[in-house]
Order: sequence, then structure tokens, then C-alpha cells
Amino acid sequence: MLKDLFRKKRKYATIPSTQAKKEVPEGIMEKCPQCGTIIISKELEKNLKICKSCQYHFRMSAPERVESLIDQGTFIKFNTELQTEDPLEFPDYLQKIAGDRKKTGLNEAIVTGEGRLGGYPLILGVMDARFRMGSMGSVVGEMIARAAKQALEKKYPFVLFSASGGARMQEGVFSLMQMAKTSTVLERLNQERILFISVLTHPTTGGVSASFSSLGDINLAEPGALIGFAGRRVIEQTVRQKLPDDFQTAEFLLKHGQLDQVVPRHELRDRLLQLLEFHAYRGNED
Ligand SMILES: [Zn+2]
Repeated sequence: MLKDLFRKKRKYATIPSTQAKKEVPEGIMEKCPQCGTIIISKELEKNLKICKSCQYHFRMSAPERVESLIDQGTFIKFNTELQTEDPLEFPDYLQKIAGDRKKTGLNEAIVTGEGRLGGYPLILGVMDARFRMGSMGSVVGEMIARAAKQALEKKYPFVLFSASGGARMQEGVFSLMQMAKTSTVLERLNQERILFISVLTHPTTGGVSASFSSLGDINLAEPGALIGFAGRRVIEQTVRQKLPDDFQTAEFLLKHGQLDQVVPRHELRDRLLQLLEFHAYRGNED
């Protein structure tokens, strides 16, 4: 037939791209959830876990975050001896904690300590979403409160990175009490005029967004981070309205006055340094 004359013959067989993309060797390559680009894991780590094609910010673990910010060799961890208990005798809770400890090498869903950033001393806390989804139990709350007390005693600024699913279900009301405990100690920092910077990363939700992570003198967030209290579906059912597509993103919250700035990860260290410099107490320099 005539149309066959114009049909190009393929010389090679092609592999459907969806099939090719499925076969990503684990640990060596990672696929960007936003644009689908396959990235070599080591390249991704070098680029602070940001996709070079679309700037998607992959999650960072607490140790990776500390390394990306703190002057080498200056970080001293606090309270790694604190152990989670099982106050409600929740089924399998302690086994799950043991599993997460093994997987992450952390004692709980947060790392706290003191160190220096560009030479400026600070107290730093970084939540880790790999550990029980970064949920806040008694130990997480206690470690934040103790870190804040160190900031009070030493008069160092306190910088806290959130990444959390909220209060920890398995500790019930003990988890909820951490909201009050952390908020109280942060109020003491406020009274003593000690700088507290909160950095909200993906995701920061539930009781964490409703307590310490929204209480910064300065509240920063990473691009695209999900930040909110209740889930979209629950709110839509309650208010019986369709919510905007960008609802509960860092950009949406910035637009509505809930955040001070959305800072891409590449600029975050410099921005923190700038803020520390700006607020540093220089004593009598005469
Ligand atoms: Zn991407």
C-alpha cells in the first residue's frame, strides 16, 4: 500500500522508558519523585540532595544535615544516652524503636548538640524523619528542652530543623505534653533575648508544627516543604470546601504570613550565617 512507502522502518528495538526507569539499582541510583530523572546517589549527595534537573529537595538525614552546616570537627552531640520507654505498653513499640535505632544509628528521632557555623557558636537540633517518621515522643521533647536550656546557659543562638509527622501516637498524652514543655522553654529563651531560628523541612506536620517549629523568632522553610497541622482531607471534610492545590506548602505559608522566608538548601548555610552574624553579641568593642 502507498502509506507503507512512507513508514519509517526502525533499525533497532526500543525499550519502553517506563520499564527502564523501574530498574534503578538500589543504593547506587535514585529517581527524582518530581521529574523522574535518574541520579547517581553520590552525585545527589554532593549536590546537597537536590535534583539538578528540577531542584526537588530530597530528604536529608540528621547526620547529613549537621555535616552540611557545621564547621568540621566542632559538633558535640548532647544526650545520646536518653532512651525511649513504653509508658502505655503499646504493642511492638519498643521493637520498632530498636529497629529504627539500628537502621539510623541514632538514639531517637532528633540529633542535638553544639558546634560552630562559620565560626559562630550555636546550639543545633535536627529531626530525622527516618526514625518513626520523625514523630515527637518524650525523648524528642526532652532533648529539645535540654538543648534549649544549653542555649540559655551559654547564651548561644538555638537553631532547630523540623522534619516530623507530629506527636507520637504510641506515647499518647505523653507526646502531647512535649508541645507544652518545648514551648515553655522557648519562652524562656525569648525572655532572655536569645535568638531562636526554626527551619521547617519536608514534612513538618501535627503537634510539631503546632508547637516549637512555629515559635521561631525567625521561621524559615525549604522549598516545597509540606507544612501543616491536620491533613488536607480532614480539613476539606470539616470546612466542606475544596482547598487550593498549593495549600500547606512552604510557598503558600510564606504568601500568607506564616513564614519569614523560603530558602533553597544551597543558600541555607549562608542565610543562617548571615542571621547569626546579624544577631551576634559583640560585647564592648571599645
Ligand atoms: Zn527532579
